[in-house]
Amino acid sequence: MSIRPIDKKSIHRICSGQVITDIASAVKELVENSLDAGATNIEIRFKHYGLDTIEVVDNGNGISSDDHACIAKKYYTSKLNEFEDLSKLGTFGFRGEALSSLCALSDLQVSTATAQETPKGHSLTFNHEGDLVKHAVVPFQKGTMITVQNIFSTLPVRRKHLERNYKKEYSKALVLLQMYAVVSVNKRILVYHQPKGGGRQLQLSSNKNPSMLKNIMNVFGTKVSSSLTAWNDDFINGYISRPQIAGIKSSSEGQMLFLNGRPITHPKVHRLIMEVYRSFSVNQSPFFAVNLVLPEDYCKKFAIRYSLCDQTEYSLSQAKPYTPKVLQKPEFLRSSPPLQSDS
Ligand code: ADP
Ligand code: MG
Repeated sequence: MSIRPIDKKSIHRICSGQVITDIASAVKELVENSLDAGATNIEIRFKHYGLDTIEVVDNGNGISSDDHACIAKKYYTSKLNEFEDLSKLGTFGFRGEALSSLCALSDLQVSTATAQETPKGHSLTFNHEGDLVKHAVVPFQKGTMITVQNIFSTLPVRRKHLERNYKKEYSKALVLLQMYAVVSVNKRILVYHQPKGGGRQLQLSSNKNPSMLKNIMNVFGTKVSSSLTAWNDDFINGYISRPQIAGIKSSSEGQMLFLNGRPITHPKVHRLIMEVYRSFSVNQSPFFAVNLVLPEDYCKKFAIRYSLCDQTEYSLSQAKPYTPKVLQKPEFLRSSPPLQSDS
């Protein structure tokens, strides 16, 4: 028996597979980048459930020529100057790992133009090591288009897993995109899917609406949006379905939590909302879109954890002064009597 080191390329792929774990996490990183670039229009295009292509096009600031060669290098980011900046929570995904990981796991192509350059832009092709291997000047509107093809082709076991579960994996990505479309006000988010051999179909859209409620109407329809009541508390703003309205049995895809305007999953807070709701309406499951707004100086204390880890792992269990707020019944639930069970 002999112990040998794993070669560098394989290490890079394995580590990248921990940053980008599935189609949803790839989409999340790309959409976060578009939001960080100040985009107001974001279009997400899937081909064959994302197995062939995942493409995100935005009208953000674009990538300046000086940065072309390094955007896909590991730990390169334009979003951090000093370590101290980690406490600034305006942007979210700043680990400088997303594009480098996507390169290691797929075939990555970037087209981009800044406001100064447009109508000219650049088409950039990267290899699996994140080196810029091809550059061409092309006509392009201000913004960025990132095309990810054959995701996980360099990790065959992961690719096989995806090919076996592609519909489920794709719908996880759609649920995440519903959340971005709901929480992003004054932005247009469009999601298209093009099946093999077919034309592209619109999956969901929001339309530069000034409020989350209007976004909910676009994404989930008026039946859902008209069943909602506003839920505003010190650190909460959002909407939840009124238990008085019978017959609405939302599935878990209509249960959305956000932290400072970006989607999170948080089982503990989720459970609390469900428990409070059940004490009023045993047969119904609520629709909710709840944004937890935590003050920046409070977040600062947890900045490193918050920004360096996947934000979905951000622990509110440490947020002692605020968690009880979530525990409390929202005003409209406090004032209405419990409903009888329908059965
Ligand atoms: P991070 O977001 O942590 O900086 P990424 O690997 O996600 O790392 O992106 C690397 C860099 O590429 C970003 O810092 C940014 O400068 C640039 N970039 C990526 N996507 C976009 C985009 N959609 N618009 C403008 N710049 C982008
Ligand atoms: Mg990023």
